[in-house]
Amino acid sequence: MKPQDAWNIAYSQLEIQLDRASFDTWLRGATFLGFDADSGVFKVGVANPYAREMLQHRLYRDVRRIMSDVWGSRVELCFEVYKPPAADSDSEELPLFRLLAKQAAAEAEPLHQKVARPARPDLPESELNPRLTFKRFVCNAANRMTYEAALAVAEHPASLYNPFLLYGGVGLGKTHLLQSVAHICRERGLRAIYIPSEVFTNDLVDAIRQKTTAMFRDKYRSADVLLVDDIQFIAGKESTQEEFFHTFNTLYTFNKQIVLASDRHPSQLHTLEDRLRSRFGGGLIMDLQPPEFETRLAILDMWAHERGLTLPRSVAETIANRARTNVRELEGIFNQIIATTQLSKRALNMDMAQGVLDGYRRPRHHVTLARVLDVTARYHGVSVSELTGPRRTQKLTQARQIGMYLAREVTQASLPQIGEAFGGRAHSTVLHSCNKIAEDLESDELLRRGVEAMQKELFTGLD
Ligand code: ADP
Ligand code: MG
Repeated sequence: MKPQDAWNIAYSQLEIQLDRASFDTWLRGATFLGFDADSGVFKVGVANPYAREMLQHRLYRDVRRIMSDVWGSRVELCFEVYKPPAADSDSEELPLFRLLAKQAAAEAEPLHQKVARPARPDLPESELNPRLTFKRFVCNAANRMTYEAALAVAEHPASLYNPFLLYGGVGLGKTHLLQSVAHICRERGLRAIYIPSEVFTNDLVDAIRQKTTAMFRDKYRSADVLLVDDIQFIAGKESTQEEFFHTFNTLYTFNKQIVLASDRHPSQLHTLEDRLRSRFGGGLIMDLQPPEFETRLAILDMWAHERGLTLPRSVAETIANRARTNVRELEGIFNQIIATTQLSKRALNMDMAQGVLDGYRRPRHHVTLARVLDVTARYHGVSVSELTGPRRTQKLTQARQIGMYLAREVTQASLPQIGEAFGGRAHSTVLHSCNKIAEDLESDELLRRGVEAMQKELFTGLD
């Protein structure tokens, strides 16, 4: 087979296998540029640096698998930004997501003209935090695409990326971006309802009790844009999922935008109904990564600037070094240092910053094996007795291995103690599990996110 033909076949398979938004955004128009038979590398031209970044990193394994299957042996891919000779250049200005959303929106009527919305029910609206805006969101390279995608959704709701699902660890700005979208939509006269999923659930329970489910439905279904935060909490709650599914379908049918945030990828929400999961998968799923050191410094700078302060560089670096994976923690430390400075009327210097930071030590040894079992079981949607029991389904085996790995990482327990806690397993089994997971973490992005989320959960309430 000629390399060009192999690429064409792989391209059409990718169109089927990836969700539409991903394909349109990253791959549509990608061109075969050449094949190096010695190294087995396909060179592919893509529209812009965003697509190259996405394909080279996050989608790489999917694309390589399909390409290798077609070619008949394992190949590698190399993506380059490529402009076909006759390309028009007026599309340069806007970043990709916004451009595509704009084009899609231009082909359809504006959202609020498409469908008459039901009369506004007389129910309280969710408040938005005025500080959570796009302007106040500091982007690093990894989050830039997610930011642009959120902005595209805000500017052109329900045109292309619907639903839009944002996921990422605790304190990385999911709520911040969701509310930023809501602000823009409201400014443009759209009815945006922002709601944490627990409030949705409580509302539903109240409505059932007070027999006002019709009103409940009207409220949510009257939104132009519905933003539901922390949807991981509705996983496992059957009647909430049922109601949410119907709300979702109604809004979707009437061309309304749905935006969701979750602490993990939907495929990792084990107790989520499949029909909801596949609904979520039908749109665009983007993640938020922890900010790097430079970004943490930039965020601290912004906060200091907003308060008319200058943060000495050494203090900023010390704070940024302490809160590595969580902007909320960064904010907590920053606020505490500022408050202490103001109360004590002392100068904002390293000494006093260090004093505050000393209060932030994490007592890691307080994590017990019981807690690891509990968190691991809950995260995988199994019970602790299944986790410690004899059954060896693939799911249970993996959950067990992850649990043992976590136990080794976050508790002081010895290998035999861990084996004992996991149902009397040999310490060699524990060691094998720890090594296996450590190795898998190197290459398995989803696993890494999952383990990070569980670690955060284990430490919650302990700081
Ligand atoms: P999540 O919902 O992902 O747990 P939040 O959106 O609540 O996180 O963010 C926690 C805090 O950190 C908020 O005060 C938010 O404004 C701030 N924050 C998070 N990421 C950023 C960022 N990239 N730039 C500026 N502030 C951020
Ligand atoms: Mg949040």
